[in-house]
Amino acid sequence: MPGFELFGEEERKEVNDVLETGILMRYGFDGPRKGIWKAKELETAITQVFGCGYAQLTSSGTSALTTAMAALGIGAGDEVIMPAFTFVASFEAVLSVGAVPVLVDIDETLTLSPDAVRAAITPKTKCVMPVHMCGSMADLDALKQICAEHHLILLEDACQSIGATYKGKSLGTIGDAGTFSFDFVKTITCAEGGVVMTNDKDMYIKSDGYTDHGHDHLGADRGADLHPFIGYNYRISELHAAVGLAQIRKLDTFLTLQKKNNLALRAYLEQIPEISFRVIPEGGVDSYSFISWFLPTEELTRAVVAEMKMQGILAGNFYWFVNNWHYISKWDHLKQAGTLHAISEEQKIALAKLKSTQFSASDAIMSRCISTSISLVWTDEQIREKGEKMVAVIKKVLQTQMAGV
Ligand SMILES: *Cc1c(COP(=O)(O)O)cnc(C)c1O
Repeated sequence: MPGFELFGEEERKEVNDVLETGILMRYGFDGPRKGIWKAKELETAITQVFGCGYAQLTSSGTSALTTAMAALGIGAGDEVIMPAFTFVASFEAVLSVGAVPVLVDIDETLTLSPDAVRAAITPKTKCVMPVHMCGSMADLDALKQICAEHHLILLEDACQSIGATYKGKSLGTIGDAGTFSFDFVKTITCAEGGVVMTNDKDMYIKSDGYTDHGHDHLGADRGADLHPFIGYNYRISELHAAVGLAQIRKLDTFLTLQKKNNLALRAYLEQIPEISFRVIPEGGVDSYSFISWFLPTEELTRAVVAEMKMQGILAGNFYWFVNNWHYISKWDHLKQAGTLHAISEEQKIALAKLKSTQFSASDAIMSRCISTSISLVWTDEQIREKGEKMVAVIKKVLQTQMAGV
């Protein structure tokens, strides 16, 4: 997922434009900034490239999710249904607005299982938040249908899936709102940054104010702005936006390289009949940032991971099942409600419940899944070497295992 791999002259030029004027802030200083508005330019580019009505930049993907929830009116006591496989930011954002994260199983798309969502709906459910992990997507038609039936908000955490599409539309632009992250390891980076995308003008105006202390941004004089509601500071800086502007112009190049390298490496894994691949919902096109593949059993998967580690080729291969950041099995701080401040009874009860909740359907999938991240700068020779080594390790483990039976 690495736009940083192709950092270069273009980013330097955009940042320099900002350094020349010295106006590092995205609002105000109309005279001295000499027409340089990088954040505004990037927001316009985002609406054009991804095809959404409005885009509000933020300081991170996490603050984009928090902003989206606030602007959608998700708050105290509201339940947000989300998957057990995601990045910690997804539940952090839910908790930060006082809402209750309801974690449910994934399916072989590696994202929210629509059946698990249906089973988790209660009178308090307000929002369904699919997380489009590792470059591909949830079954959005199924989730949209559920949301329509139950009058729920659909908020897409598309932070990891910049450039992927579903039925011709960019992920993140299909629900009531969606977010991208532009942190350092995402498909395009600002160093730190994020965006809320929506087609709803009112939701956009709320997002705009929320990220800047509730400013209404209506007057020419920032100091005279009114505050129709309480906001926070989740602003992006002009320096960060400048980097993002250079990166979004290179997105097509990134995606083309990503696809080429992904398919070349995948061809090696396809030689092994025991391997299967992540399911992509009909009508979906993934961003090719990862190859996510399954072995037949957890035992085999653990053996392959161990052998890859021993041979020094584990880097770039993620066994999420035992990963501290991405899967429920390792989120003890969440299960123990390890917050620095008091939280509501509803939140406490929901988090305590996680300790005894089984995610056996997700375990059965995640324990067999390895995701291989795709570099933009691999040479053909490096892909060949990587592919051959991976195939050798997997075949060795499969043969040992079969001999042992
Ligand atoms: C990266 C990421 C985020 C948060 O983004 P930051 O910019 O790092 O705050 C949220 N959700 C998912 C799925 C992510 O991968």
